[in-house]
Amino acid sequence: MSDKVLFLEYVMNKFEEVAKKIKLDPKVKTILSQPKNEIIVNFPVLMDNGEYELFKGYRIQHNNILGPFKGGIRYHEEVKLDEVKALAMLMTIKCSLVGLPLGGAKGGIKFNPRNYSQDEVMRVTRRFTHSLGDCIGPNYDIPAPDMGTNGQTMVWMMDTYMNTRDQGSRHNVRGVVTGKTVECGGTLGRASATGTGVVMCIEEWARGCGLDLNGSSFSIQGFGNVGSWAAIGLVNLGAKLTAVNDHTGTIISEEGINVHALREYVLENGGISGYKDFEVLERDAFFKHKVDIMVPAALENQIDVHEAKMMDVKLVAEGANGPTTPEAEQILAKKGTDLIPDVLANSGGVIVSYFEWVQNKSSNYWVEDKVHAELKRIITTAYLEVVNTSNNHKCDMRTASFIKSFEALQHTYAQRGIFP
Ligand code: GLU
Repeated sequence: MSDKVLFLEYVMNKFEEVAKKIKLDPKVKTILSQPKNEIIVNFPVLMDNGEYELFKGYRIQHNNILGPFKGGIRYHEEVKLDEVKALAMLMTIKCSLVGLPLGGAKGGIKFNPRNYSQDEVMRVTRRFTHSLGDCIGPNYDIPAPDMGTNGQTMVWMMDTYMNTRDQGSRHNVRGVVTGKTVECGGTLGRASATGTGVVMCIEEWARGCGLDLNGSSFSIQGFGNVGSWAAIGLVNLGAKLTAVNDHTGTIISEEGINVHALREYVLENGGISGYKDFEVLERDAFFKHKVDIMVPAALENQIDVHEAKMMDVKLVAEGANGPTTPEAEQILAKKGTDLIPDVLANSGGVIVSYFEWVQNKSSNYWVEDKVHAELKRIITTAYLEVVNTSNNHKCDMRTASFIKSFEALQHTYAQRGIFP
């Protein structure tokens, strides 16, 4: 597998390629080629044993011409500056692509939360939020969950931020983060939003190519929040989950795997290994397994040349950010495999984050049906526009997504310019 540092190179190469293709205004290209702000904080945290441990946290704010910086916070032992920079740029592209009034950012802390107690993770989160200080804010930069973080993490961030404001303004700043629990100001439908959005894109794809999802088969890599909700959505449409892979192994069943039982098991045990009597197979077995649809919903760079050569699938729908390397993408394209790129396929998360932010601003909360209907409207429109762009420019859907996104950013810069 390729090294993570290359991930930034992949994103930058794609940026260069598309900028050239659409003759992107050199001024806009100059602006987008680097993040606006790169924030790195080192902060000590009190551990359960009474010692202090030093943590390194990042917040990369790529662009905010369309609205406040927006994007997740990742807790993972491999978090590094280049990775976060690439992910921040993808957020700018994602928000612009689906037409949200938001910019792009990403953050993270280099540590594995599984190795720490719940209290320690809380203190890490609170200290990080405090260190970021006014670098975040409900009208400036709005974090959200990503890999290794969840609604509880966001509630700790919100509470810490709120408590640094004066008494009278605390409730006005709930929208400093999205993806909060519903009890603490989150929206209905946010937890399942990314997975649900992946399924909505797959439905459009299936309609376009005349495939009946009822009776189709699919596989999922990574059975966390995104993967498990995508699986539940697909099963509800009559599809069958026949293979799952995660950091603990692979399980395969032609009869179909019970998504609800597996989700419960993974929530309790942290991985799929040991689920029922399933034999735990090698990683390659997952990629060799033939299905109609594969949803990578784990880390970046998971489908490289080695994996792509083994794969026999009709569609890859990228639930994760950057799961397919460019070389692998070429191999899949030659095989006739369709691909719905990350910036479109997993945009459901940030779309519903936007709804949460709007609800926090107005203190007027939506019923779940409204969240679902609005998500469907936005993501389906974006999907069909990307298909149109890809037909007009005779290019793949990733290239088309970048084109659509950069054109929107370019229009805005053409009117606003830079100040002073
Ligand atoms: N972390 C998610 C993403 O990569 C969601 C970001 C958000 O809701 O702001 O799109």
